[in-house]
Amino acid sequence: MTHLAVETDAPESICWNCGIRSDCISGPDLPDEGDFVLCIRCACVSVFNADLSRREPTVDELCQSTMIPELRLIRKAINEVNERHAGKPE
Ligand SMILES: [Zn+2]
Repeated sequence: MTHLAVETDAPESICWNCGIRSDCISGPDLPDEGDFVLCIRCACVSVFNADLSRREPTVDELCQSTMIPELRLIRKAINEVNERHAGKPE
């Protein structure tokens, strides 16, 4: 089975939680306004605006995001990779 990912440029956004800057997104499809996205550094959830910039989720959106199994899996994977690399010299 092959999984293809779409990678696209996006307006530069700053993660509301950790402050990392990002101007590229990837996923199974191009996102729509209101879709969730995870920060590759801190694994927090943001929400896409219509122009694909990202914003902090509302409390309701944050609750909705916790009910999506795929997001939980991806968040777990990001956290595991970060823990594995924590403390290792580059
Ligand atoms: Zn972040």
